Amino acid sequence: SRKPMVAGNWKMNGSLALLTAFTQAVELSTVVDKVLCVPFPYLAAAGKGDFAIGAQDCSQFESGAHTGDIAVSMLKELGVEYVIVGHSERRQDHGESNEDIAAKVSTVLKAGLTPILCVGEPLELRQSNTFKEYVLEQLKAVDEICGRSALSQCVIAYEPIWAIGTGMTATPEQAQEVHEFIRTQISDWCEAAGHSRILYGGSVNASNAELLFAKPDIDGGLIGGASLKIEDFVVICNAAK
Ligand code: 13P
Repeated sequence: SRKPMVAGNWKMNGSLALLTAFTQAVELSTVVDKVLCVPFPYLAAAGKGDFAIGAQDCSQFESGAHTGDIAVSMLKELGVEYVIVGHSERRQDHGESNEDIAAKVSTVLKAGLTPILCVGEPLELRQSNTFKEYVLEQLKAVDEICGRSALSQCVIAYEPIWAIGTGMTATPEQAQEVHEFIRTQISDWCEAAGHSRILYGGSVNASNAELLFAKPDIDGGLIGGASLKIEDFVVICNAAK
């Protein structure tokens, strides 16, 4: 009884023209929550579409002397409902630690928005078979810093780094194994967290989405490259039904 969700993450791609095309596109299924996470400058124009609006990051601070950063209250003013927190590209490009990410989760929750918390291991840890411990640490930081009920208020996205933008999608079995592991762990900490939606991300496309979403613990996807093409995004949204 978890409502499926498909969230597009445009990353630093797209244009106002592409966004306009998306807002005018055919209506999408209502049995799936659809979210489009566009770059900050496009958020104000994103409200007209048949999808909820997400941002790709926010400041951990509520306001103040933080030049170039964006406060969650500002996102809220634009009708933003979701904020991606802890994407691997931000962990890598901006050195965001598990603690920084937990602080952001806290700030987003306090404002009444929903974090899409990203976790996932690099290739070396997949190869050394220590990836579950790594993902567990990422989740544990949020549980410990934000409090017991925090993960029950997040959407969680499992995005193995080796699968992001590589075309090397995790198999439905590989993804399901980690999703089940995540669900078991977080429901151990807080029963309600067992009901959180867990999305898979990493080279999801119009051809592989259906088999991934058919797995019992995969509640939808966080889509990068394929969320920039309307036809593909529609197919992926429909695959989550
Ligand atoms: P791709 O779908 O382009 O692999 O990106 C996944 C991702 O990082 C979504 O946040």
